[in-house]
Formats: sequence, structure tokens, C-alpha cells
Amino acid sequence: MKISVIIAAGGSSSRMHGFDKLKAKIDGKSVLTRAVLPFAEYGGISEIIISAREDALPEFEALVRAEAANYIPYPQTAHGAAMKSDADNDRNTVHRANGAVSIERISKSGGGVSELRSEALKPEDGISKLKTGVPELRSGILKSGGGVPKLKTDVPEIRFTSAGATRTESVYNALLKVSPGTDFVLIHDGARPFLTSAVIRRVTETVKKFGAAVPVAPVTDSVLINGMPYPRELLRCAQTPQAFDFAKLTEAYGRALADGTDEFSDDYSLYAHFFPCGAETITAGDPENKKITYPSDLPSVHGVGYDIHAFGSGNGFPLAGVTVRHNRGVIAHSDGDAAIHALMDALLSALGKDDIGKLFPDSDPAFKGINSIELLKRVIDIVNSENAKLLNISLSILLEAPKIAPLIPSMKKVLSEVTGLPTDRIGISATTNEKTALIGNGEAVACFASVSLLR
Ligand code: MG
Repeated sequence: MKISVIIAAGGSSSRMHGFDKLKAKIDGKSVLTRAVLPFAEYGGISEIIISAREDALPEFEALVRAEAANYIPYPQTAHGAAMKSDADNDRNTVHRANGAVSIERISKSGGGVSELRSEALKPEDGISKLKTGVPELRSGILKSGGGVPKLKTDVPEIRFTSAGATRTESVYNALLKVSPGTDFVLIHDGARPFLTSAVIRRVTETVKKFGAAVPVAPVTDSVLINGMPYPRELLRCAQTPQAFDFAKLTEAYGRALADGTDEFSDDYSLYAHFFPCGAETITAGDPENKKITYPSDLPSVHGVGYDIHAFGSGNGFPLAGVTVRHNRGVIAHSDGDAAIHALMDALLSALGKDDIGKLFPDSDPAFKGINSIELLKRVIDIVNSENAKLLNISLSILLEAPKIAPLIPSMKKVLSEVTGLPTDRIGISATTNEKTALIGNGEAVACFASVSLLR
């Protein structure tokens, strides 16, 4: 019984305002990797083919390879050929996860060969005790629990292929890449990261019996059809993975493309158009097996930052990118913009990155007197390079004098230009310290910053 999985990851994230939802992180792993892993971990799946836009393939492949390293023992290019090793010598990479150990050896000839030593290995054994010794092993994971290692050989091969112009074309292209001898194929949305093994089990059991399977969930909103209320108990939402007899699905896709019929919203409706399915092919999905469609479907992360600068000699000081006229200046290595410094630390903190003290050290002459807006631009570059999307900024400025309320609209405008956020997503409040302590005595200006992001 040979089962292949196709992950449809060719969408354009059109409802996500330019943010690539497949790269968004949930608890440290991308949506795409989370869509792939339940199949890799399930057992009994022979291969997983990820179909993505040509321009996104290298990035997606690198992402999934990094996040699911235990399941991709062979380095491969997007088109399945062995990737050349850049090392002069053979290189061994040891992957560990949940008590399992796998060794990947990349030989200097460029071919990838995974080797494992099948000797007793305890969890406390160091990697140095592992020696390679079983050549030509296609893939494997060495389980170190219980002292006696077991070789897991049903780890699927993960490959990547180019999507077509439409979803129908993309799935058909991927079907052509499925290995000969495959009995059933499961097709899953790359944007469904909450799939459980229970749903995979129900779908695979159903397809083995009836040749097709679709997991469904109840409709929770009230429904109107042509403006008339309709009993939602009669309706179901079709989810993925949907499963099919491989040969029949390939035939159905071939016929749909030949006919030019492209009105199907999912694989089940296409398949059922050519091979009518009975109710026995319907199985329970999971209300949690949601498809990420809008930014609000993703959990957000938060960060806080704080900064204070003491007043010294000078004429005015920068605050949130705007010059505040004053009979004092601020003491600082950079330009001393406490609001921008607090904001940068909040952004970096939300991403789990080093703070500005490490990123822009005051021991480095390059940052002497630097405009903090230039530093903020660099931090925004980091935010973008992490595929994070800034949702809002909230600043609370503590300053006894002068009054800065009239400057707040200008501050918002500057921050909006640098961060790309609309001004109604930027909140700036100003307060005094009621003439008490350092700030109340007019000796310093401080700022708290809070941000939220999708990542
Ligand atoms: Mg500072």
C-alpha cells in the first residue's frame, strides 16, 4: 500500500496584504512546515510533494529543510536532483529531535548518503560515540530510548515542485511527480497548519475502503442562500487532506484540463464530477483544522521596550523622530531619541532578537551621533527579513516639560513613513511625572514602547 501526499502551497496570499502566510510562524515553526509535519510523523506515507510558485520555491525549500531537518535526509534541489555539497570534505550533520538521532552525510562527490551506526545508544551518549557504518541507507531515524536503537524506515521523502498558473494545473503538475506504483494520494492545503493524526487516519482508512475521502466540519455561521435563510445543520465545510485513488484522480485531472473545466474549488468536487462519490466517502474533519486566510487567523507576538535619556547642555532634542524645542539637550552616544530607542527594543524583543545595546553598541564610533530613524530603518529591515508583519505601535512618553502634545501628529507621520503602518495603528501618549523624581524634576525624558506583530 503506497500513499503519497501533495501539499498545495502555490497560492498568492491575496487576502494577507502582501504578507506570506505560509512563512508566518506559529510557536516557532512556519505554517507551511506545520502543514507538512503531521504527514512526516504519521508513518506509512512514502513521499510528500510540495507544490509552490517557482519564485517562492528556493525560500520554501530552505524553510522546510531547516524546520523539518529530521525528515529530509537527502539534500535536493527544487527539481529533485542531489544538491552539491559546498564542503571540500565529507560533512556529517547530526539531527536530534525528541530523543531521536539521525545522521546525514554529504559526500564530497555531491551525492547525499545517510548513514547510521546501529549500536546501542543511550540518550546521554555524546555524538562523538556515533560512527557511520551503514551505507546506502535511504533514510532513517535512530531512536535512542531504551538502550537498543531501532531504525525507522518509513520516513517519507520530501520533494518540491513548481505550481502552475491555476490550482488545477498545480495539482496536476504535482500528480505527474508522484512515484509509480502509488495507490492513494492525499492532497492538503499548505495553509492548514493544525492538522491532527486523527484526521489523517480517518481519511486514509476511508480512501482505502471507498477510493475517495473528504473530511468535513460543521458550519458555525448562519447561512443564507439567495437571501433566504437555510438550515446550516444540512451543510458541511470541506477541509483537507482529501484522499483519492491515485490513477483515477490523475485521470480526472487530465480530463478536467482537456475540457478546460476549471470551476472546481477543491479536489473532491473535481474528482466527484468525473467519478461520482457516495456519502460513505465523507468523514469527520476537525473544527480546529482551519485554513489560514486572513491576518487575524494567525496568533500575534508582542514586545515591550523602555529607554531614558538625561538632559544635558544643548538646544532641543529628538523624540519619536521629531525635534523638540527646549533649553536643554540630551546626553547620548547616538542622537538620544528615547522613543525610537524604546520602540526598536520592543520590536527586537517581540522577535526574540538581541537588543539595540548589542545591535548598535555605543562603543562603536559608527553610531556616534547617528540619527535614530536610520537605526529604526535597520530594525524594520530585520522585521521584514523575518517575514513579520507589524500590527501596531504604542508609545508612552514621560516628560515634565516642554509640552509635546502638539508634536504628536508629526511623530505619528514620521513613524508611519518608516514602518509602513497607517497612523491609526500608532498610538502616542504623553504624561508628566507629577514633578516627582528624576523625570518630574526635569532631568530626563523616558519612553515605554509596546508593539504587536504577526510572524
Ligand atoms: Mg537610548
